[in-house]
Amino acid sequence: MPVNPSDPSLRSFIEARPDSDFPIQNLPFGVFSTQSSPQKRVGVAIGDFVLDLAELEQRRLLAPAGGETHVFDRASINAYMALGQKVWSQTRAKISELLRHDNPTLRDDKALRETVLVPRSGATMHLPIEVMGFTDFYSSREHASNVGKMFRPQGEPLMPNWLHMPIGYNGRASTVVVSGTPVRRPNGQMKPPQANAPTMGPSRRLDFELEMGVVVGQPNKMGSPISMAQAEEMIFGFVLLNDWSARDIQPWEQPPLGPFQAKAFATSISPWVVTREALAPFLVDGPVQEPAPLPYLSRQAPQNYDIGLEVALSSDKGETVISRTNFKYMYWSSAQQLAHHAFCGCAMRVGDLLGSGTISGPEKHERGSLLELSWNGTEPLTLQDGAQRTFLEDGDTLILRGAARGEGYRIGFGECAGTIRPAVALATGER
Ligand code: MN
Repeated sequence: MPVNPSDPSLRSFIEARPDSDFPIQNLPFGVFSTQSSPQKRVGVAIGDFVLDLAELEQRRLLAPAGGETHVFDRASINAYMALGQKVWSQTRAKISELLRHDNPTLRDDKALRETVLVPRSGATMHLPIEVMGFTDFYSSREHASNVGKMFRPQGEPLMPNWLHMPIGYNGRASTVVVSGTPVRRPNGQMKPPQANAPTMGPSRRLDFELEMGVVVGQPNKMGSPISMAQAEEMIFGFVLLNDWSARDIQPWEQPPLGPFQAKAFATSISPWVVTREALAPFLVDGPVQEPAPLPYLSRQAPQNYDIGLEVALSSDKGETVISRTNFKYMYWSSAQQLAHHAFCGCAMRVGDLLGSGTISGPEKHERGSLLELSWNGTEPLTLQDGAQRTFLEDGDTLILRGAARGEGYRIGFGECAGTIRPAVALATGER
């Protein structure tokens, strides 16, 4: 009887504290390098270590591609993802087996252990995927309703199409960066409602958006839509995602084609891709969908995930948690987003990234952006040190964290952090 790698009773010879994000039940994939070995390669996080999969592949302890083909000595996990669901499952099981407390292969071979297990504190993390395309959705009913109430106070909070399909736009893959990469405040064109002409300059209403990112691990052919079941199978895993947004650039440029420069300057993701398989025990029903979606978006089984999320704002004077919410609130699931994306015949590729849309819950403290938390700048937040914020200031660090919680363990995502740097100075004399 094969062991289920998600079994809560599994133990590793590498101790993971109960509050660790990376117990043996998680095994998330990332790309790392070390000072002594600067070549980027694929690893999985286990406790306070990174397990070097390239090294294991070299020693034939892992062979996901079979034979002599190597996929872990690469600068992204794309080649591994391209091998498909069956290989993902087999490899996860094999890695789990190598790390188990009763398996002597690594446990009792000190030299091997010291080669393949790198302390996480000494590893530099890189962007785990080569991002082929980035699409951002707008799938939290609470978030969309809050925005509607702010900007269309006389009308219905939701647009007429919102309950019928996951609304989204095609974003920029080129500016997706890994956690820790500084984020430069964007310059842009904006026009405050009372001004009669637009101006250019640094955004003064710089915001974050708390989202989850879906990493697409299998393609579909152009012209070939996919079923909801296929959509689920195409999802390799999830990351934390911060869809940085300039709230003064956005309203002026948005009509009629959607966000453009306001969200194109940076998108941050966490370095560890937590697999769909590791999250499977945390599947829950999403909100009731009424009216029922069209057949191509029909849900047959739970597709939402119970993942607790938090947002912290850190300045030189300390850290304040400004939001606590949950991924389970999303009205449209990731599988529905993917099925909708491909319904027209759009080709999805290995390495596509889908942003869930800002994740807000029903309560005030569950809002996933400063736009909502400060109600469009009218209700400033007070930080731990007494300072106030409506939007982000230069030097602020924004940190997203998240984990699904099991009995005595957690399937965590690590952190998705970024620090705001001042805008590029504009040449004087320009207007
Ligand atoms: Mn967004």
